[in-house]
Amino acid sequence: MNRQRVLSGVQPTGNLHLGNYLGAIRNWVEIQDQYDNYFCVVDLHAITVPQDPKTLANNSYTLAALYLACGLDLNHSTIFIQSHISAHSELTWLFNCITPLNWLEDMIQFKEKALKQGENVSVGLLDYPVLMAADILLYQADKVPVGEDQKQHLELTRDIVNRINHQFGTPEKPILKLPEPLIRKEGARVMSLTDGTKKMSKSDPSDLSRINLLDPPDEITKKIKKCKTDPVRGLEFDNPERPECNNLLTLYMLLAGKTKQEVTAECQDMGWGKFKPLLTETTINALKPIQDKYQAVMDDKSYLESVLREGREKAEVVAQETLAQVKAALGFSKPL
Ligand code: ATP
Ligand code: MG
Repeated sequence: MNRQRVLSGVQPTGNLHLGNYLGAIRNWVEIQDQYDNYFCVVDLHAITVPQDPKTLANNSYTLAALYLACGLDLNHSTIFIQSHISAHSELTWLFNCITPLNWLEDMIQFKEKALKQGENVSVGLLDYPVLMAADILLYQADKVPVGEDQKQHLELTRDIVNRINHQFGTPEKPILKLPEPLIRKEGARVMSLTDGTKKMSKSDPSDLSRINLLDPPDEITKKIKKCKTDPVRGLEFDNPERPECNNLLTLYMLLAGKTKQEVTAECQDMGWGKFKPLLTETTINALKPIQDKYQAVMDDKSYLESVLREGREKAEVVAQETLAQVKAALGFSKPL
């Protein structure tokens, strides 16, 4: 039986944090044995905001090593670097020419990131969701496991599929498959440690706003000690007036592997002075195996290179096949 396909990716734009892990990668690991999976390091997405050419390649390797460290298993998952497969850029161009400009201008991520960029907003930042559609559709993915912030981009991908199938295919013979987002309820939106109303992000200028997967114990201790809380006694989930409290309890629940009921019972009468050391210890313990495995992977560069080489070879075959189908449907001549 053919397994359904999964595709997802993370940008090598900085340090991988608990939001990326709990919202995305941990879910990839949990479902990988049920699917045929493609996980890429989306370096073409990274350059939609300025990147330092001296560190870009290294950041991509680091991220691929973290994918392995978090538990991606090569028996189920193909890991590769997006820019190694030129079909991503080429399909983006084809999609660009059928995507209405106003669809992109409505994207929340574009508006938020454009604000931060000031005068320097690139066409690439606007075009980010079209590149993401190309990533997903090149592999004819059935499911796309992402955090809540990517939901709108997934909807745009589905709009592009419907448009292409309608304009260039027939109902009996669609050209592209309609993918579905896989967004877990818990951890889908991990919030910043310094502002419980903003999502935790790699691109937040303050490192105190996030816990990175590679933070050493003393750094984790410092960040949790300094994180924003409130003066209310007792801890609770789901109080909209206490976003920090909900976020920190959710982190504890997910990292400790406990249920909401268990955490409620354990923490409802606690003050921050008791809860913070508990969260600190739980976070350090949860990240330790990932950090150890990461070191082992980074100590064997040739292994990592072989993973990425094999990943590229496998992904390339699937990507080229879809690209050829789309080009044929749009009426391009075959290369002679
Ligand atoms: P950047 O600030 O550069 O956009 P990012 O932290 O948003 O970085 P991405 O590489 O854009 O990370 O996203 C990678 C994956 O992590 C996506 O699936 C995204 O939905 C998920 N993700 C990002 N931030 C969070 C968060 N705070 N909570 C849950 N999931 C998140
Ligand atoms: Mg992002």
